[in-house]
This record gives sequence, structure tokens and C-alpha cells, in this order.
Amino acid sequence: MTEIFTGSFTQQEPIPEAGIAAALRVLQSGRLHRYNVAEGETAETALLEEDFAAITGARFCVALSSGGYALACAMRAAGVTAGARVLTNAFTLAPVPGAIAAVGAVPVFVGVTEALVIDLDDLERKAASADWLMLSHMRGHLCDMDRLMAICARHGVTVIEDCAHTMGGSWRGTPSGRFGVAGCFSTQTYKHANSGEGGFLITDDEMLAARAILLSGSYMLYDRHRAAPAPEVFERVKYLTPNMSGRMDNLRAAILRPQLADLDRQVARWNARYAVVDAGLRDTPGLTRIARPAEEVFVGSSIQFLLLDWSDEAIRAVLARCAARGVELKWFGAPEPAGFTSRYDSWRYAPSERMPASDRILRAVVDMRLPLTFSEEDCATIARIIRQEVAGVSEQAA
Ligand SMILES: *Cc1c(COP(=O)(O)O)cnc(C)c1O
Repeated sequence: MTEIFTGSFTQQEPIPEAGIAAALRVLQSGRLHRYNVAEGETAETALLEEDFAAITGARFCVALSSGGYALACAMRAAGVTAGARVLTNAFTLAPVPGAIAAVGAVPVFVGVTEALVIDLDDLERKAASADWLMLSHMRGHLCDMDRLMAICARHGVTVIEDCAHTMGGSWRGTPSGRFGVAGCFSTQTYKHANSGEGGFLITDDEMLAARAILLSGSYMLYDRHRAAPAPEVFERVKYLTPNMSGRMDNLRAAILRPQLADLDRQVARWNARYAVVDAGLRDTPGLTRIARPAEEVFVGSSIQFLLLDWSDEAIRAVLARCAARGVELKWFGAPEPAGFTSRYDSWRYAPSERMPASDRILRAVVDMRLPLTFSEEDCATIARIIRQEVAGVSEQAA
């Protein structure tokens, strides 16, 4: 009998009871705006920023309206100006080049390796041509951060990190988001904490933090922030920094705080699921698993594999056959952008040189979400289905 999987790849877990209770308290108070506090009260949003600063070890944290907003805010606060060239990953999600475009800067794409990380040789070649790198830890893959930081230091390139998929991840013990001048996170539903929409910016740089808070739309109420620099720092930039409203509100913050408190346990659950799928795909002919370096702590909220040098038809056949059995795979290499997947050549506002070695890899990337609503048994079923269908198509092609 043919096994069929019936779970939903887009179904996340419910918000924890503590988050629902905290959200109800905010709703009952009517004080949803982060600066709307009663006498002696500290807003949930300010407490959330303190929590996340403590989790990551950053001096400063500001909660924002989305991850994409955090990226643009970090660039503005760091001093990226219109027309500046900003290096970024060719393998990333559309909001990353979109944030670079939002500040009027020019995305310059850097290639991707078979390990699905930024190609450091290509970065080395391009580093002299730019002052900035928006490093996207796409799908949670961390590159050799020691070498990357050495390259960037040598060329005077300032690094900002897109940690949308690495909340909870680290490289040799340093949390992602703590290598660059700023780290940006998303709390959008499909990331590692879920408030529908939302984001964080973390930094140790007090001027950057003050600018980011002013940019976020603090209406000169910055003294109500806690994970923030001293008022004197704001004094130096408050007349010079535009308000570009992108705040988080107390309702989202209330939903997020219990989730952050539980992040380590959730990471372990994701990684248990990832390990089951990864083991189930081992030694599948024609399928390349992604190697994970020992220095990396990752969060297995999604899994990727490569169908290297397969024809478009064969890749489409695998996707169709898996879909018919309930397994939803995404193809990053599809010529036409669809849903969350797109290639650098579909961002035509940011023309790029061709990168044939990267194109070969991007064409081969197949991606799958692993929501925590799946059990480890579900994950074993999914791996069996992928394995059978990849083998089936590859036999047919042979
Ligand atoms: C989701 C995502 C973002 C942006 O986050 P939003 O909160 O959706 O704006 C940025 N980078 C990557 C890689 C993402 O997946």
C-alpha cells in the first residue's frame, strides 16, 4: 500500500497558554501601544526587548514591526546611504534584497556553495567593491563565521546579519546576530517565535541602537525603553534621525515573551525532527544531503537537499509525485518565483552578473518546512516518501 502523509506543512503550534493569558491582559487593559503605560507600569514590549537582549547577550535590543523592517532599519542606523553597494547572498528570501532597495542601496549578490552558505571565495573577490555585507543565514545555514569576519575586517566591510532563520542558532558558541554590528530577527509566523508579524534588532553599538529606536518611531519617548542606551546618546542624534514608524505593540510582545522563554526546548524539538528526516534521506541515489559543520548549532525548522544536475522535468516530477502523497516540497530553482521561493535573477530591480556555479546549486535546491505540529513518526513517513519518489524518478530517467 502506498503511504500518504496528511499533515499540514504550514500549521504551526498554538500560542502557549501563558502567551494567550498575557495577550488577554493587554487586551483588557486597552494599552496596546508600547508607549501607552499606566503609572509605574513597564510595557510588555520593553520587557520583551530586555528578554531578547539577555538571551542573545546583546547590550541593546529594539522590537520592530517585521524582520524586513529590522533589516532596513539596521542598515539606516548603521549609515548605509542611497546608492551604496551592499553585498548579500544570492540564496536568500526576497525581503533581503527588498530591504536593501528600501534604503535606496544596491544589492550585489554573492554566490552560494553546496553547503547552502555564502561562497567565501566569491565574497573575497567582491569585498573590495563594497562597504557593507547584509549576511543572510538563509534557511539557518551558518557559514564559517571566523573566516567571513576575517575577510570583512581585511576589506573594511561592515557586516549586518539577517537571522530570520537562526534565532537559537550559533557558531562556535557565539549566537547568530552577535558577529556583525547588528543582528536582525523575524517573529513572523513561519520563523522560530510566532507573533504573526514582528522583528528584533540587536546591537552593542550605542549610536546604532539610539538611531534604530528613533527610526522605529519612538516619538521622543525613548526613555521608556530598557534595553537601550542612556538618554545622552539619544541627545546626539534625536534631531537628525527621521521617524519611520515600525514599532512592535504590546499585544505581540505579550504573545512572544513565553515563547522566547521556551526557545531552547523548541529548538531541541525541531532538531529531533530534522534528524529523523535527514537520517531517512541518507544514501538516496541522486540526492545530496546538506553537510552541517560541527561548529554550527542550527535550528532544524526546515530541511533542504540538492538534486544536482537533474533536469527541470525530473525535479518537477519529484515534486509532483511527493505532492500527490501529501509531501509539500519547495523548489528554489524554479524559473518563475512562486510563494516564498525566488532566485536572484527574478529580482530584476537588482541586476546581477551571472554566477554559473551558484546557478547550478540554486537549480538543485529543494526545501521543506518542518513545523512542530509534526511528530517524529510523521517525519519518518515524510522521509520514506521522498526517498521512494526520488528513487522512482531517477530510475525512470536512467
Ligand atoms: C522571513 C525572512 C525575512 C523577513 O522577515 P519578515 O518578518 O517576513 O519581514 C528576512 N530574511 C529571511 C531569510 C526570511 O526568511
